Amino acid sequence: MKTKTIIIFIFSAILLLSCMPSRYSETRLSITGESTIPVTIIIYTGNQPDWDGIFTFLESRARLYDYRVQGSPVQELNSSFKAQLPEDVFRTLETALDIAEKSRGVFDPTILPLIQLWDFEDSPQLPDPGDISSAKSFVNYTKITLYGNNTVSIPEKYGLDLGGIAKGALVDSLADYFHTLGYENFLIEAGGDIILSGLKPGNEKWIVGIRHPREITSRIGELTLGIPDNRIAIVTSGDYERYFEQDGIRYHHIIDPRTGYPARDAVSVTVIAPNCAIADALATAAFVLGKKEGIAFLEKEKDTEGLIVYEEDGYLKTAMTEGFSLFVNRIAF
Ligand code: ADP
Ligand code: MG
Repeated sequence: MKTKTIIIFIFSAILLLSCMPSRYSETRLSITGESTIPVTIIIYTGNQPDWDGIFTFLESRARLYDYRVQGSPVQELNSSFKAQLPEDVFRTLETALDIAEKSRGVFDPTILPLIQLWDFEDSPQLPDPGDISSAKSFVNYTKITLYGNNTVSIPEKYGLDLGGIAKGALVDSLADYFHTLGYENFLIEAGGDIILSGLKPGNEKWIVGIRHPREITSRIGELTLGIPDNRIAIVTSGDYERYFEQDGIRYHHIIDPRTGYPARDAVSVTVIAPNCAIADALATAAFVLGKKEGIAFLEKEKDTEGLIVYEEDGYLKTAMTEGFSLFVNRIAF
C-alpha cells in the first residue's frame, strides 16, 4: 500500500514536471536596419525556440522602418516625397500621428531634417543656429498626407523618421508573431523597449529593473508587473543612449521640435502602456515635455503610467503618475 502511494506520488511529480514549461532565453545584437542593439528574449515553453527564425523575422521587419536602409519604403518616401508603405509601417505612422496630435507636436515623426543636422548616428556635432532654424521650418507633422492604399506624401525638403516609435512597433510585431507560434508567456527587450506577455510559471509576475541614467551598470529601481493572458509594455527613453558633451552640456538624440535643440527638462522617462509602440512614442513625447508637463500629459492617457527622472541642483530626482507607484517595489530616489 505504502509503495503504491509512493509510486503514484513519483508518477504525479514526473507528470507535473513534464507539463511545466522550460525557460529559454537568447540575447543577440539585432533589430535595426543600419545599427544594432542588444535584444533579449525569454520564452516559457515546451520546446527549444527557433532563434534564427525569430531574429530573421525581427531584422527583416526592422529594415522596413529605417530611412537609412537603401530601398526601404521610408527611404523611398523621403526621396520621392510619395510612397506606398507596408501595412505595419503605415499603422505605425498612424499611431505616431495620433501621438503627435495629442502632444501638440512635441512628438513629431517629421523630425528628420533636425536629426540629420545633429547627426547623432555618425558624426554628432553642434549645428550652426541658422541651420537649426531653417531645418526646423521643415518639421511639421500636419503636412503629412495619408491616402487610401497605405500611400503617404510629404512636401519637398521634409522627411519621415520613425526612430521614436519604430523599436516599440517592432517589439509589438514580434509579440504578435509569438502568439501565432503559440507562445503565451514571454519577455522581449530591445534597447529599453519591453513587452511582457502573460506571467512566469507559478503565476508569478515579472520583475523589471529601471536602468540608472548615469551609472550604466546599476539600477535606480525595480518594477513588478504582468497580466495573465495579456500583454503590458514598459519603455524607457533616456539622454544616455546617444549623446556628446561640449562645454559641459550634454547634447542627446531627443530633440524638441519647438527649439530644434535636445530637450532639457528630463534625464529619462519610463512609460507603462498596453502596447510598446504607444509606450515608445509617449516616452519620447513626455521626455520633450519634461517633468511637470510630461507627468500631466501621461496622467491624461488611458491605461498609461509614467516615471520621469530629472536633475535638480546637481541631484537626480523622480516624479511619477499616481498609478505608477502601484508597480514600484523599489526606487532609489
Ligand atoms: P531611445 O533611442 O532612447 O529608445 P527614443 O525612443 O526617444 O529613444 O527615440 C529617439 C529617436 O527618436 C531619435 O533617434 C530620433 O530618431 C527620434 N526623435 C527624436 N526626437 C523626436 C521627437 N521630438 N519626436 C519624434 N521623434 C523624435
Ligand atoms: Mg521613443
